[in-house]
Amino acid sequence: MRDQLLKQARRIVLKIGSSLVASRESGLRLDQIDRLTNDISALKDGGREVVIVTSGAIVSGIKKLGLKGYPKSLPVKQAAAAVGQSRLMWAYEKSFERLGRTVAQILLTHQDLADRRRFLNARHTLTTLIELGVIPLINENDTVAVDEIRVGDNDTLAGEVAHLVDADLLVILSDVDGLFTEDPRRNPSATLMPLITEITQDIEQRAGLSQSFEGTGGMATKIQAAKRAAEYGLATLIMNGETPGLLPAVFEGASAGTFILPRNRRLTSRKHWIAFTLRAKGQVALDEGAVEALVRRGKSLLPSGIIAVTGDFDPGDAVTCTDREGKEFAKGLVNFSSVTLNRIKGLKTAEVHRALGQQEYDEVIHRDNLVIL
Ligand code: GLU
Repeated sequence: MRDQLLKQARRIVLKIGSSLVASRESGLRLDQIDRLTNDISALKDGGREVVIVTSGAIVSGIKKLGLKGYPKSLPVKQAAAAVGQSRLMWAYEKSFERLGRTVAQILLTHQDLADRRRFLNARHTLTTLIELGVIPLINENDTVAVDEIRVGDNDTLAGEVAHLVDADLLVILSDVDGLFTEDPRRNPSATLMPLITEITQDIEQRAGLSQSFEGTGGMATKIQAAKRAAEYGLATLIMNGETPGLLPAVFEGASAGTFILPRNRRLTSRKHWIAFTLRAKGQVALDEGAVEALVRRGKSLLPSGIIAVTGDFDPGDAVTCTDREGKEFAKGLVNFSSVTLNRIKGLKTAEVHRALGQQEYDEVIHRDNLVIL
């Protein structure tokens, strides 16, 4: 299965971690960038399309600005990113130019992905670049991204980009070999897990134990990105990016890294976007009848099944649905604000009409806008 998925993968999103391209002590690792671009160029020679999500702006900016350590304050991080991003692009551009390849810079924030129109615009631009044979180099737009609009880490961003460009495979290159049974730096008997068929709680727990050296992610965000990709029918390979030649070799059958299989169920792009790109603005708790209707019978959510409403949201926002015990099981786009929902929760449709007058929608969440998690 692994070999077949790797052989067939045509469009690949490749995430490159900070430590592979920059270090705080010596700045950009130009030799290493050359090795990476050689490998990426070899993939392109093999007829594959590559979209890169690269970190390293902040780390490279730290060196350039002569800062003491990784900045804690957001404005200093943003300043470092502004200085580092242009250097990072300069390095990639020069390195790819050597091989006759053209690159393009794209900086994204969560907001660009959460707004469906901007999401589709970004998709068009990226698809056009790919068709023109250009290698897009994506990073978070750190200089403008404050917490509310940040993706926050590039593993998550790469997962979202994989969905954005409708990739066949997500490859996460880092300074570790993949997911281990335990943290290999603390426990020498830890072993690499070559294949994960499903991301269970046990896997998530193991991922939480291991951190990489630079960057914001660690294994936990990589596994979460893989989990989301799997829901979209995408496989993920997490592997070490330090070894020259290994990347093209894995596509020819060499064994390396941790490979995570996709799920059989594949969400549509729109439902995946609702489930994983949008952030929930609130929550509705449902009675047993409504849970059953949504989960087993694929129905829309009506006001009568709602027992509680939390959060502050407007029509069109995303909310999660929980059962009585508070366990989240679905997410969708609501047709009513939290204020209105608080008035009509528990009411039958006829009673809603009496309370509010005839509405545009009877459903609180239409089943086309609802994803069972
Ligand atoms: N966008 C950050 C940078 O370029 C990296 C974030 C991450 O490593 O996850 O420095």
